[in-house]
Amino acid sequence: MNSTLQSFQMLINGAAVDAGSGRTFESMNPYSGVAWALIPEGTVEDVDAAVQAARAALDGEWGQLTGFGRAALMRRLSRLIADRAEDLARLEVTDTGKLYREMAGQATALAGWYDYYAGLADKLEGRQIPTPNPNYLVYTRREPVGVVAAITPWNSPLLLLTWKLAPALAAGCTMVAKPSEHAPASTLEFASLFAEAGFPDGVFNVVTGSTRETGEALAGHPGVDKVAFTGATRTGRAVAHAAAENLNSITLELGGKSAHLCFPDADLEAAANGVIAGVFAAAGQTCMAGSRLIVHEDVHDELVQLISDRAATIKLGDPNLPETEMGPIANAPQYHKVLQLLKVAADEGANVVCGGEPDDEQGGYFIRPTVLTGVSPDATIVREEVFGPVLAVYTFTDESEALRLANASPYGLAGAVWTKDVHRGHRIAASIRAGSVWINGYRAVAPSVPFGGIGNSGIGRENGIEAIDAYTETKAVWVELTGGTRDPFTLG
Ligand code: NDP
Repeated sequence: MNSTLQSFQMLINGAAVDAGSGRTFESMNPYSGVAWALIPEGTVEDVDAAVQAARAALDGEWGQLTGFGRAALMRRLSRLIADRAEDLARLEVTDTGKLYREMAGQATALAGWYDYYAGLADKLEGRQIPTPNPNYLVYTRREPVGVVAAITPWNSPLLLLTWKLAPALAAGCTMVAKPSEHAPASTLEFASLFAEAGFPDGVFNVVTGSTRETGEALAGHPGVDKVAFTGATRTGRAVAHAAAENLNSITLELGGKSAHLCFPDADLEAAANGVIAGVFAAAGQTCMAGSRLIVHEDVHDELVQLISDRAATIKLGDPNLPETEMGPIANAPQYHKVLQLLKVAADEGANVVCGGEPDDEQGGYFIRPTVLTGVSPDATIVREEVFGPVLAVYTFTDESEALRLANASPYGLAGAVWTKDVHRGHRIAASIRAGSVWINGYRAVAPSVPFGGIGNSGIGRENGIEAIDAYTETKAVWVELTGGTRDPFTLG
């Protein structure tokens, strides 16, 4: 075993622990291509212990706290995140190859998510509801769903965990989180903040593992009340099946094949910049990647030129350096998947305007920013999520064709319209079949704005006030007001 590797522990019932198996696995740095961390190889028994701890916390001190008490703890957590943002960001850069340039802001912004939901924790109001029978006072209570299983991917581990955890804590739930085997370190480090913030033991637990075993055990665990998942559509289906065995509610944030629609009247410089942000930021490894560009035939050549000129100058390199604009692909399986899809695109006749191949000069898992034109709307590269820096470009002639092409996808996560015509902007935004649409913009998110997909892109919404609904149950309380008796054989 390499003693220079940094060791991490899981968090179960407030204690930093090794796996019950005593075993570990290595996490790789995708920039250097070498292992840098040792992660506990959790077992089904570890998942059981974590779920039991989360249940006990719900039944204990945490369950007795009011929303005001929960909000106070969440605000302390927020301050600790802000204090440790630099460390958390560096861990994620090392584990995922994401740019420090992006992560520094993202880790700091995480604190804002806990503040936002702390602001909702003490405002979970019920309603007093009139009924036809005046002899009853009826009111509702918002109660926590219970123990939440959060299964997260490797592309933005802490942000996507936070989209689940912040509303879950506000609602009074407890959680067992299972980060991806490819990027577990930042979640394990983040877990250590809970005791410092003063949370009771067991409110937040983390288990890790290098096989499907821990994720599967957690998704289908009978002690869990809700499953929140972000990742591949295929995995989301498996998770939904497992949750259905327990009749648990689910939130699924899955893949996407989001489209930019660019009209001839658009500011093409701005559109080119938005397309770059949509598909080359984070090396295209985001669920909301704008990986299809459907552009009016009159401006196709000019826009492709603007995008490919900029794409060709994108600075690939060490994700820790401030001047780097694109880091590596986050792990070996993903790197090979992107290369395979590029080969399929070439075989199907795509024209490579720029990129289209790995960047071997960099070492690590680098792929050059790629712009493909001349693709058919039926091509594999248009239909399948790449999750890499690959843009597929094709054309339309009128608005109805633009919409038909944009909506010809089983995914429905996001989209954008580029136009200076305010009427058309809103008209198109209303007709794109997706959970988020940006008009003359791309890749903006906020704690207050609901995010999620339809179709193969998922079920439910994260962020915004709506997300609280996913973590609460409504209880109706009926109070009989007369103190009398009634005919027991009729419906009250
Ligand atoms: P997965 O969907 O397989 O992994 C996401 C999470 O689910 C990980 O924590 C994973 O654990 C866990 N998991 C895997 N299988 C199961 C299961 N049967 N039951 C419960 N949990 C499970 O993503 P991959 O890492 O394999 O990436 C594959 C593709 O998914 C990418 O190429 C990309 O297209 C898409 N993707 C989409 C994301 C999004 O944000 N929408 C994010 C990441 C990937 P472990 O990693 O330990 O196996």
